[in-house]
Amino acid sequence: CAPTDTDQIYAFYSPLLSDQIRERLLLESELREALKTDDQLILHYQPQVDIATGRTVGLEALVRWRHPRLDWLSPARFIPQAEACGLMVPLGRWVMRSACRQLSLWKAQGLSAPTVSVNLSAGQFSGPSLIDDVDTTLREFSVEPSLLELELTESASMRDPELSISIMEQLRGMGIKIAIDDFGTGYSNLSYLKRFPVDRLKLDQAFVRDIMTDADDLAISRAIVAMALQLRLEVVAEGVETREQLRMLANAGCRTVQGYLYSRPVAAEHCLPFMQTPFPIY
Ligand code: C2E
Ligand code: MG
Ligand code: MG
Ligand code: MG
Repeated sequence: CAPTDTDQIYAFYSPLLSDQIRERLLLESELREALKTDDQLILHYQPQVDIATGRTVGLEALVRWRHPRLDWLSPARFIPQAEACGLMVPLGRWVMRSACRQLSLWKAQGLSAPTVSVNLSAGQFSGPSLIDDVDTTLREFSVEPSLLELELTESASMRDPELSISIMEQLRGMGIKIAIDDFGTGYSNLSYLKRFPVDRLKLDQAFVRDIMTDADDLAISRAIVAMALQLRLEVVAEGVETREQLRMLANAGCRTVQGYLYSRPVAAEHCLPFMQTPFPIY
């Protein structure tokens, strides 16, 4: 009998779909394995730089996976997977422990490390174990809570704003800092922004990318920086790659930036130069 539309679609998509599912299941079991063995995952750190002094005032921890089959995997590939299969909490715990261990190592080496920012996924942030996990890890490695900043995306913080406020208040009560990541892309209700007990906004790199050529991106960047300053929040501009972008942001009132202009995210041992010596002032 003649194939119906559905048959055709089925015949066309089926091998692809099952490939995707197989790949997903494989990745999931490999991630479980990676979390056990502890030698495939690594944190890289990217400096957040004070434009005026060239000093590194913060380090953002970004997870990397040296995958046995696929070489280096970017978090964009496996964080959503980890979320989907319930591995985000163990992965997030690994990230937090690894960042705190690093802070304690730097301290043992007599280095004064800046604040380390750790990204939280939406599920991790609102999950029942966050506060306990963070508290336990800080104690385990004797890390000063003020050396830890947690980054939550704007869209994650807006899922349930009242819940977000209460979690943020608990974290801040412990002495931990909070940043809103990817700000400007998440349809914020600005009246909540006023109530969020946060320290910093991270201007999304989407606005910085074309800030030289797109008048709208420039206008939005300026407006966000101005608003943040009025609300007494610090702004970190993300994805700064050129001196021109840096100058534009500095003119807008932004004091701290992060991006390839200064450094890509690098392994902990490669942070020592810029932890000790300021970057050139552009
Ligand atoms: P994010 O938190 O917004 O991190 C900034 C991303 O921009 C990083 O990508 C960084 O490598 C990249 N970047 C920094 N400077 C520049 C630049 O000048 N130009 C360009 N084009 N890109 C720049 P990465 O490391 O691939 O991470 C992507 C996203 O994955 C992060 O975005 C964050 O949302 C998530 N992620 C990374 N590590 C973790 C983690 O440990 N936990 C969780 N929950 N999410 C993570
Ligand atoms: Mg981030
Ligand atoms: Mg971001
Ligand atoms: Mg992002």
